[in-house]
Amino acid sequence: MKTQAALPRTFSVEFFPPNTPEGKDKLLATAAQLAALKPKFFSVTYGAGGSTRERTLDTVLDIRKTGHAAAPHISCVASSRDNIREWLQRYKDNGIKHLVALRGDLPSGIAAAGEFRYANELVEFIRREFGDTFHIEVAAYPEFHPQAKSAQDDLASFRRKVEAGADSAITQYFYNADAYYRFIDECEKMNIAIPIVPGIMPIGRFSQLARFSDACGAEIPRWMRKRLEGFGDDAESIRAFGLDVVTALCEALLKNGAPGLHFYTLNQAGLTTAIWQRLGI
Ligand code: FAD
Repeated sequence: MKTQAALPRTFSVEFFPPNTPEGKDKLLATAAQLAALKPKFFSVTYGAGGSTRERTLDTVLDIRKTGHAAAPHISCVASSRDNIREWLQRYKDNGIKHLVALRGDLPSGIAAAGEFRYANELVEFIRREFGDTFHIEVAAYPEFHPQAKSAQDDLASFRRKVEAGADSAITQYFYNADAYYRFIDECEKMNIAIPIVPGIMPIGRFSQLARFSDACGAEIPRWMRKRLEGFGDDAESIRAFGLDVVTALCEALLKNGAPGLHFYTLNQAGLTTAIWQRLGI
């Protein structure tokens, strides 16, 4: 963890683009609440296959109008080079200088993978076509991506993204801090020195968390699953337990040298704010 501990810390929050005008108003109210915490930037996700790209950009511009930094995500799966170039140009034309570059997942019903196979090819493409216009973040998986053939293969994939020109990384969420420490140690052995910021998922609804975790390969440790299942519909107990567990995780990560935290807010301010305040960031 030596290289990471020496880096400046970045605290950021993530949104998904709203679907409706009411959702947009609500999101801007949530952004205003979270802005009080002074995150370094807000990031905005990009729906599978580009399904939300207009809304992603609109949301980024809406947040920027409030005086805060915002970074769109972009994913390359099911897209052509021309199409990705066009969107990167739109980002550039709108003064965007920071983005999260991903492969993404094939939307259901779409069979063609498009012209990019993996995120390293997207990072290479961005650097080739747009030079240093963008600060590029990529995804990292301390518990390994569900489609990776092996842990070693996944580390090699991560290294390719860094070698292609990624400036920093945000991890998939995890509740086992050791997975993150070991991941960082392996990266250090490969001379990877970019910031790798832990992604933090506050615990709201257990059924939703279990569904996400099954899909993305983030493990909910058995003891946590058992406790959360045991609370049934008792939202207050889930909230209290989740706040304790996630705050303790964040404290340990920061104490051991993590270069900041990135909160998956699910467009809600409450849990992220509570954890942030408990941490005294
Ligand atoms: P990659 O880095 O390309 O890796 C995907 C898989 O392919 C891995 O298993 C990897 O080991 C393997 N691989 C990579 N290169 C090779 C190779 N050359 N040969 C063989 N195998 C290889 N999804 C969205 O749709 N929209 C978002 O906005 C979004 N935001 C995200 C933000 C963060 C911080 C994270 C962690 C994830 C996000 N995702 C998002 C989810 C992400 O798109 C999925 O996890 C997706 O399945 C992988 O994307 P990636 O960029 O990590 O892919």
